[in-house]
Amino acid sequence: MARLNTFPVSMKVAGRRIVIVGGDDEALAKARLAAKTNGETFVVAPEFEADFLGLDVTLVARDAVPCDFFGAAMVFVADHGAAGQRALRMARLAGVPANEVDVPDNCDFFTPAIVDRAPISIAISSEGDAPVLARLVRARIEAMLSPRFGDIARLAGSMRDRVAAVLKDGVARRRYYEALVVASGIEDALAKGQGAAVADALLDAHARTAAGTGVVWLIGAGPGSVDLLTLRAQRLLQEADVIVHDQLVPAAVVEMGRRDAERISVGKAKGHHSFSQAQINTLIVRLAGEGKKVARLKSGDPMVFGRAGEEIAALRKAQIAYQIVPGVTAALAAAADTATPVTLRKVSSGFVFATAHGADDEDVRHWASLAGSGLTLGLYMGKSIASKVAGDLMAHGLSGSVPVGIVVNAGRADKALYAGTVGALAGGEIDFVDGPTVIFVGEAVAQGDWASAETIAALAERVA
Ligand code: SAH
Repeated sequence: MARLNTFPVSMKVAGRRIVIVGGDDEALAKARLAAKTNGETFVVAPEFEADFLGLDVTLVARDAVPCDFFGAAMVFVADHGAAGQRALRMARLAGVPANEVDVPDNCDFFTPAIVDRAPISIAISSEGDAPVLARLVRARIEAMLSPRFGDIARLAGSMRDRVAAVLKDGVARRRYYEALVVASGIEDALAKGQGAAVADALLDAHARTAAGTGVVWLIGAGPGSVDLLTLRAQRLLQEADVIVHDQLVPAAVVEMGRRDAERISVGKAKGHHSFSQAQINTLIVRLAGEGKKVARLKSGDPMVFGRAGEEIAALRKAQIAYQIVPGVTAALAAAADTATPVTLRKVSSGFVFATAHGADDEDVRHWASLAGSGLTLGLYMGKSIASKVAGDLMAHGLSGSVPVGIVVNAGRADKALYAGTVGALAGGEIDFVDGPTVIFVGEAVAQGDWASAETIAALAERVA
């Protein structure tokens, strides 16, 4: 494994000098960064760009001299001429770490890309190898953290003594801080200058319920790729004490939880019913009743063929708090994979997502008429009976020429596509690759991009 050549630290600069040698744009960029700190920014160069005048920095219009560097925290040299090289030597003689801007060989340290939410700072470094990549990572993190993140951190810091006095238990304290930073509308309160009042009220509430009370989050994990999780799902997974997940949720998604969270797989893959639905209901009620935060992680969207209705009913009955977090459902992941618009002007005025498993003749008759009038069908749990369902649709009057598109492992790297018509699918069973499957039926399917799909007609073994 590659090892780091650098070691990230946060250097104290408050009250100390940050020396910048140079007066051009490069120096200006460093001066701007330095001026955001409580360090004393000291810029030395024979002449300066006009923009320096607007900064809260000390400008010294001459070449650098050795005593400029004594006691300084760090030095940036943005002058690549002889004067700059002299300045680098002076800095090193004074024992101060120096950085010649954009010349990695002349750097004792590198400046990372910084996400600044004082007092919290996040530094992303590439050891000078790939500053562009570091900036991309920064942009992502910037988008994740609200601009008020620093205020929240300061507020939490200001509560420390009181929280320690009121909540003796470490777990209770952690719960309090979690509730404070994520769940109590704290950003709005801070914007209105009511942060401290909200933090106090929340502390009172937590003191009353000492250990805090449990909650169940029914979280949609999406179709199985980590980056199709919502930010909310990710945040709550980080907070959960226990993660109760279905078999269909891939390990990489379950791994997004806190490292020390308990993880319980409740099976429910087709053919392996390790927990009954009643047992799952009892389990989540019991865990939340013990005061735990339970992430009930389901594939796709929890409200779509996820038996969420039964779990919610059990939670209501036990008076346990719950929250639902939507996820990308399989059919919509499949639509995205194949650029298939499930609604399309003048072609498909709507879509029906239904389960093929357990459908009766009346259901199929209904679907045949909907698909016949242009609507797009997205059939879940239909892989092993795909051919039979296609035949039944035709028996109920759907034309064999209506397009069919099938996506196995939608939203995942190993997705597989099959395309053809209802008639071709009715022609025989197909040996699909392994994995969960969505079957689309409808005229809009033909507008998708199925270029890389296998042809159903070629695969269906003709029934003799
Ligand atoms: N709540 C889930 C559905 C669970 S039912 C959702 O919203 O997606 C399980 C069925 O969902 C599977 O039989 C299959 O039809 C479908 N499914 C789940 N994940 C899938 C995936 N990645 N690709 C294709 N189909 C999937």
